[in-house]
Amino acid sequence: MKFNNVDFDTYFKNYPTAEGYFGKYGGSYISPELQRAMEEITSAYFTICKSSKFISELRKIRKEFQGRPTPISYLERLSAKIGTGVQLYVKREDLNHTGAHKLNHCMGEALLAKYMGKKKVIAETGAGQHGVALATAAAYFGLECDIYMGSVDIKKQAPNVARMKILGARVVEVTHGLATLKEAVDAAFEAYCREYKDAIYCIGSVVGPHPFPMMVRDFQSVVGIEAREQFLSMTGELPDAVVACVGGGSNAMGMFSGFLNDPVDIYGVEPLGRGAKMGDHAASLQYGEEGVMHGFNSIMLKDENGEPAPVYSVASGLDYPSSGPEHAFLRDLGRVKYDVVDDEETVDAFFTLSRLEGIIPAIESSHAVAYGMKLAKTMGKGSVLINLSGRGDKDMDYIIEKYGIR
Ligand SMILES: *Cc1c(COP(=O)(O)O)cnc(C)c1O
Repeated sequence: MKFNNVDFDTYFKNYPTAEGYFGKYGGSYISPELQRAMEEITSAYFTICKSSKFISELRKIRKEFQGRPTPISYLERLSAKIGTGVQLYVKREDLNHTGAHKLNHCMGEALLAKYMGKKKVIAETGAGQHGVALATAAAYFGLECDIYMGSVDIKKQAPNVARMKILGARVVEVTHGLATLKEAVDAAFEAYCREYKDAIYCIGSVVGPHPFPMMVRDFQSVVGIEAREQFLSMTGELPDAVVACVGGGSNAMGMFSGFLNDPVDIYGVEPLGRGAKMGDHAASLQYGEEGVMHGFNSIMLKDENGEPAPVYSVASGLDYPSSGPEHAFLRDLGRVKYDVVDDEETVDAFFTLSRLEGIIPAIESSHAVAYGMKLAKTMGKGSVLINLSGRGDKDMDYIIEKYGIR
């Protein structure tokens, strides 16, 4: 299938390029020391991760530890309530071990660390979800794990900090600047520069310098591969539309990669938060412009000085001022349509899915559910497959405090 002169039959052979580019996006904008470390990871990725030994070990882990394949559920009552005849389905990443899709790439990255003979994994975390997933993977492989976290976030995310510590990770407090995610990213990169002989940096989404956007996409592609096969065997057809929420964009890239070469409409959903004013949302692909941050070129939200702008979303996993370079590329090609839903629509979807289907979605995933519902209302027939990236247990206290029980 061709789209704007890009041939999707050979897409994964050509994108990213050897330098890590998806069109003009991606690449590697980092110091020479870090560049050397990234090259080591890239060459290890191509030799180790493509070997049958690595692939079969990862498959065994996915099945016996993570609980994959995760099912697809048909949403009978929600489809009936919408009433247009459109059938809604969800891919249940909420049933993946630790309750979200993030473990898919953390297990891959930590297995690579083991094969490379590294003793430690290093990462930053904001809300703590990536930290918990990586601490889980490190415990499984017997690796040390240092998670850098701003002191503001440490205070806000006490349960996740406790989880990481129980799993044996060291939570390193970052106190300078605003002491949140941005400072934690800088501190983790610095630590990696010092320790790269013994450690590997594990990024939490399809962002950062090459090879991470490619590597994380490939580890997450299990979601799309499973979903395509499962949907075909459940219904005899492909879905008409696929929907996923986009923060950095890893759950979305995993799902989308299974359907890029099919006649399927693909939608990425960003958080509109409180509205379209700068600072009230985190819809970078909707309102951002081209720029470099955290070592890669993509579409980002900038403040007046060209620095990453402050962002907001009800979902802490989506409040990132940029998105992965591959999303920027697919947006420009027109292969994926990116759109937004606001906090209010999201919270509505959170309660609707819980009440009608007995599935409490993560507030991040509720963005995709809200959009899937809106889309189903505009379609006369057909089917929509939504990636339910995680479960909502972590969001319960916050939702009840802020919105009450609806
Ligand atoms: C972290 C997270 C996200 C956002 O990350 P992506 O890389 O955009 O997928 C979405 N859903 C859940 C449940 C998360 O924990």
